[in-house]
Amino acid sequence: MKLIEGASIAEIVYRECLASLAELKETGHQPGLAVVLVGDDPASKAYVGAKDRKSRELGLHSVKIEKPASISQEELLAVIDQLNADPAIHGILVQMPLPRHLSSDEVIRRIDPAKDVDGLHPVNLGKLVMGDPSGFVPCTPAGCQRMLIESGIETAGKHVVIVGRSLLVGKSLALLMANKGNGGDATVTIAHSRTVDLAAITRTADILVGAVGIPHYLGRDHVREGAVVIDVGINRIVDASAKKGTRLVGDVDFDAVSERCAAITPVPGGVGKMTIAMLMANTVRACRQRAKI
Ligand code: NAP
Repeated sequence: MKLIEGASIAEIVYRECLASLAELKETGHQPGLAVVLVGDDPASKAYVGAKDRKSRELGLHSVKIEKPASISQEELLAVIDQLNADPAIHGILVQMPLPRHLSSDEVIRRIDPAKDVDGLHPVNLGKLVMGDPSGFVPCTPAGCQRMLIESGIETAGKHVVIVGRSLLVGKSLALLMANKGNGGDATVTIAHSRTVDLAAITRTADILVGAVGIPHYLGRDHVREGAVVIDVGINRIVDASAKKGTRLVGDVDFDAVSERCAAITPVPGGVGKMTIAMLMANTVRACRQRAKI
């Protein structure tokens, strides 16, 4: 069984970013990323902190905007308008989920598609549907595809079963892998909470992707011998033996599944590492596209 580690593949992406940053610097350009956090959800805070740290480490111009959970829709839209107009900012990410009284849909639609490095604006999702590479692809699906490519796993003609149909992960990844080209050309099945006899379907997968959000949901019976397994899930469970009393696990029961699959991503240390890397790559590309380099 091969372990597909996110850190080493993310490093490849970071090296590409650094080369691109050096080239941009020569022509007086510096990619800028703004991350907007509303409220004080600890997990969201941790994600935003990690994105900010990585941006700075690479040499991007990083702006972290923190707003109270009580912010109104109009005030939040005004923040987006300001970032859209700011020439030092090439990428805008609003950390989801937003507090219930805010419309994330309206906020995403307000972001300039050319700065939508999270790839969730309808223009970018439309480009994904059309297979137009000028758009931005949501970072987690882009990261999953990159992991497969860098690991030398053939996707053309393979049956990919994705469990989960969120725009952020499952549905976008399905489109990406069904599109033509490197890391694509797959035959894709999307499964979800209304799927009947899930295990019978997942057992037909050459590549199985778990994006469900239920700890250890996909077990031994869901996986065909020799399949490749990509675990997108990040779930915190109680574990008295862990230092903090909790630990992170995926949607896949790693111990049970790793015995029969050909390759698998760990949690933590798998897809999660790639999400930030692809965000950096998208921001650098947004800067190149604006600078027409
Ligand atoms: P989500 O929006 O809650 O979507 C979950 C999907 O799973 C839905 O399509 C849902 O089906 C499906 N589902 C729920 N219960 C199911 C069941 N019993 N059987 C089959 N399908 C079921 O979650 P998400 O944002 O896609 O995230 C999924 C997981 O990935 C979470 O653990 C999240 O933390 C993780 N994640 C990780 C990263 C990363 O960087 N690694 C990034 C984003 C998300 P319905 O549509 O029918 O409800």
